Amino acid sequence: MTVRKQKSAARWQDADELRWAVQNWVTRIGIKSVQVYVRPMKRKWASMSSSGRMTLDASLLKLPKELGEYVIVHELVHRLAPNHGKVFKSFMLAYLPDWEEREARLQKKVHALGN
Ligand SMILES: [Zn+2]
Repeated sequence: MTVRKQKSAARWQDADELRWAVQNWVTRIGIKSVQVYVRPMKRKWASMSSSGRMTLDASLLKLPKELGEYVIVHELVHRLAPNHGKVFKSFMLAYLPDWEEREARLQKKVHALGN
């Protein structure tokens, strides 16, 4: 097991890097490709349509990368588990072992992750 020291949190360079991260996770999780849009959203960090269209709040670009990564994985795992039940949690744990900590950190930010 690797122990990583937390340095000053890295930020996303731009929306392209965020979109690239989504595609990486799509490959890693092994789901159908998604289209990614980055734009300002008022009440959610992200949303995912049933047709595979993911919209990410542009304000994620101002937050540490690991929080944006949490939002991405959260939305993609919804392709495997539509609600926040046991299946969802076990996938989250498999992909991001510290997801609950990231979620707690994100919830302290401006708005809550809707779905
Ligand atoms: Zn959700």
